[in-house]
Amino acid sequence: MNFVEQRPGEPQQVGYTKERVLVTGGAGFIGSHLCERLLAEGAEVLCVDNYYTGRRDNIRALLDDPSFEVLRHDVTFPLYTEVDRIYNLACPASPVHYQFDPVQTTKTSVLGAVNMLGLAKRLKVPILQASTSEVYGDPAVHPQQEGYWGNVNPIGIRSCYDEGKRCAETLFFDYHRQHRVDIKVVRIFNTYGPHMHPEDGRVVSNFIVQALTGQPITLYGDGTQTRSFCYVDDLVDGLMRMMGSASQTTGPVNLGNPDEFTMRELADMVRELVGSAVPIVHRPLPADDPRQRKPDIATARETLGWTPKVKLREGLGRTIAYFDALLSDAPRGAEMVALSA
Ligand code: NAD
Ligand code: UDP
Ligand code: UDP
Repeated sequence: MNFVEQRPGEPQQVGYTKERVLVTGGAGFIGSHLCERLLAEGAEVLCVDNYYTGRRDNIRALLDDPSFEVLRHDVTFPLYTEVDRIYNLACPASPVHYQFDPVQTTKTSVLGAVNMLGLAKRLKVPILQASTSEVYGDPAVHPQQEGYWGNVNPIGIRSCYDEGKRCAETLFFDYHRQHRVDIKVVRIFNTYGPHMHPEDGRVVSNFIVQALTGQPITLYGDGTQTRSFCYVDDLVDGLMRMMGSASQTTGPVNLGNPDEFTMRELADMVRELVGSAVPIVHRPLPADDPRQRKPDIATARETLGWTPKVKLREGLGRTIAYFDALLSDAPRGAEMVALSA
């Protein structure tokens, strides 16, 4: 909230200018796209990030915008500021990164949720939580509907993320019931696109970087496990629709693209689109890797009028173009290739 500046000679005027929006995890993959869209739609954006997996490069183009502000801050610590809406995205999302420091991952989800909910409660503003399809674990129900309670290992290597996000959902609903906080919980399914880190470790960026740099594609297990991939622009549209929904729309709402693919199909599509004949090498399937995943998006369709538009082939094309440009940009390209080798 900004007070309108008083100009000399003008009548006394007190009022507010643009809506001020806090995006935690704003320098990350999805967060940076969200910041860009919010600015384009006329908001002031406060991007809060500790750069654990996020990058300054993702938000570099926004830094000259007077409506954009960045704060290096870890959401596990309290944050006192004044905003009109909160998108809580801070949390590493790639298995490689969230398993690197699992205690910090749980703290980020749980303490981050407490602090951001405390902020939303004090300011009486809406808050959106970026939850995840991981709350369904290795799902025994297919496709996954919001009513499904999931099949999650509470003590495995993915638990820091899955259970952290589940506890965050619990906190959101308890702050809603107990303190009437206006909450918006979305469960995001695998999302991909430009601004993923070349070393992110998730499957889409791994396969593309491998194909572009002539390295073998690492297929975990036999490659028959499935995922459903949503292009980031569609996802950001869903996040903004959810934030703009009526206060009784708390969620949880699934956001994802229901087109389902095996990882083998994804590997073949990436090779074909890159025009690369790199071999596929099999690596062991990580523990607790979900066998199948596909969102039921009837709730998002009905309550938000949202449906993803970008087909995998088209979204992969745009993502390949992004990585191609990034990796050919000397000297940074050389550095990135070295990182991914
Ligand atoms: P990302 O790793 O690119 O972004 C996460 C951002 O949060 C990074 O910029 C990171 O530096 C920041 N961060 C991490 N810990 C922090 C802390 N303690 N304090 C402040 N900032 C911190 O991941 P992403 O794919 O952009 O994911 C964004 C959100 O969406 C995450 O909450 C993730 O769990 C959720 N999500 C993403 C996907 C997906 O497929 N991309 C799927 C489900 C859920
Ligand atoms: N908090 C914050 N910013 C605020 C208000 C609260 O970071 O503007 C944090 C603070 O650390 C607090 C937490 O949010 O511990 C939860 O707030 P709440 O009001 O629910 O709890 P309490 O302050 O009573 O512990
Ligand atoms: N995967 C793979 N090769 C890779 C990275 C991932 O075969 O280089 C597989 C992984 O085992 C999983 C799927 O791709 O079955 C999606 O993995 P990702 O880490 O992208 O996300 P998840 O949905 O598992 O959190």
